[in-house]
Amino acid sequence: MSSLTQACLWLDQSPAEPHWPPLTQSARCDVAVIGGGYTGLWTAYYLKRMAPELDVAVLEAETCGYGASGRNGGWLIGGLANQDAHLLRLDGERREQARRRLFGIVDEVAEILPRERIDCDFVHGGVLYAAARYPEQEAMGRKWLRELRRAGHGEADFRWLDRKEAQEQLGARDVRGGVFSPHCAVIQPARLAQGLARAAARLGVRIHERSPVRRLAPGVARLDGCELRADVIVPALEGAAGQFSRLARCLLPVQSLLLATEPLSSAQWDEIGLADRQAFGDLSRMVTYGQRSADGRLVFGARGGYRLGGRERWNFDPGSDEFAWRERLLRQLLPALGATEVEYRWGGTLGVARAFTPYALYDRRAGIAMAGGYGGEGVGASNLMGRTLAELILERDGDLTTMPWVMSEGRLERVRRWAPEPVPWLGYHLVRSAYALEERLCAGGSAPAWARRSAGKLAAALESLLA
Ligand SMILES: Cc1cc2nc3c(=O)[nH]c(=O)nc-3n(C[C@H](O)[C@H](O)[C@H](O)COP(=O)(O)OP(=O)(O)OC[C@H]3O[C@@H](n4cnc5c(N)ncnc54)[C@H](O)[C@@H]3O)c2cc1C
Repeated sequence: MSSLTQACLWLDQSPAEPHWPPLTQSARCDVAVIGGGYTGLWTAYYLKRMAPELDVAVLEAETCGYGASGRNGGWLIGGLANQDAHLLRLDGERREQARRRLFGIVDEVAEILPRERIDCDFVHGGVLYAAARYPEQEAMGRKWLRELRRAGHGEADFRWLDRKEAQEQLGARDVRGGVFSPHCAVIQPARLAQGLARAAARLGVRIHERSPVRRLAPGVARLDGCELRADVIVPALEGAAGQFSRLARCLLPVQSLLLATEPLSSAQWDEIGLADRQAFGDLSRMVTYGQRSADGRLVFGARGGYRLGGRERWNFDPGSDEFAWRERLLRQLLPALGATEVEYRWGGTLGVARAFTPYALYDRRAGIAMAGGYGGEGVGASNLMGRTLAELILERDGDLTTMPWVMSEGRLERVRRWAPEPVPWLGYHLVRSAYALEERLCAGGSAPAWARRSAGKLAAALESLLA
């Protein structure tokens, strides 16, 4: 097989054929969801489960799962990016309640999948963040673990693995230990998105694919030649939100890129491990993430770039250096790959909220409910946020609607926006350059300790400035 294909493994295994007709005539409904990714589909699903009489429609520009939801790394994390910023502000029982909600995401999804007959290769094996490749990763991991303890997480939630334990889980280069958490599962992302769409449709959600919304105004989504009116509009667009002026700069659309190898031999898997199909990454600032797919491939990715003006991006050149760099990193991490070929290369766009903190909000006056800014951790988070949006819209008094990631003011204008261009572009590229410098000095092995340390400090300082 050619080593140059830009196909996405998940969409290749489960092609995103259109199932539902476009919207061609003007209509109205109670809730109009814009975007058929996990956020939109979970929101529609829970709305119909909680209130079957509600008329809910989903408008998707392409096919359900076309966006990040069909192409991600398949880590289904029980948690939210930067969640400890919230947890640290809560006391005793409230903090415990919030932690239960976050860690409970994996069990919630695990319960729904068989009930809705969604077969997405779900395996609940936890996640290993390995301190590997260079010594500084051990210090980073131990520092992170101290922060986790301060936020109240115990051994059962995150624990340090010594060198031997970590090496048993992941046969990577120069493993020195790692942080293991049970609160993560792996999935086949496109199958989850497509299965969710079918589950929502069975409940009576009206889905329209190939139905791009061109304009959003209060109570109405305008398409080419028709419009959909609704009491509540849920823009569930994540990396694509910037196309609408009302939502511009709420999220920073950032790319992430992935590779998938050919299936590995059992001898290679004996060396690499991942016997429980645990998700894995290393502790570098490059945000690496990987999984052992159900058909025995290594799927591996790392955070990518940001385009001036915050433009989304779905097409990537498989021959570009962006992929070559990730492949080198993967081979450096897992020497057991030897001459194994990389068969798939793809990428997509995700959304990052200001302060790296995802949020949900329901602005009653504007008739808008939205959630997002998952910062690359949206597979599990979108389930929690979909449930939360459903409760907010239905005005149910559950504990979900009072969680700290729900914006209490509930006003679209209150969402913290990113600065206008070119500030985000310059900031992002500065931070990326600092990460790349740190990576080069530390992984290269020959730089003096002071230079490696300084590069790490510079990267951390710039990162906090960007937030
Ligand atoms: C390469 C990559 C790897 C990732 N890996 C992970 C991971 O391992 N774990 C994790 O937790 N998270 C990961 N993420 C993030 C995660 O995939 C996203 O946070 C999540 O899928 C967001 O779901 P969503 O429904 O909010 O957005 P999306 O899935 O992007 O859905 C938005 C939808 O809106 C549609 N749309 C766009 N414009 C319009 C319009 N005008 N009208 C109608 N519809 C429109 C799009 O076609 C799309 O289907 C990754 C993201 C990427 C890109």
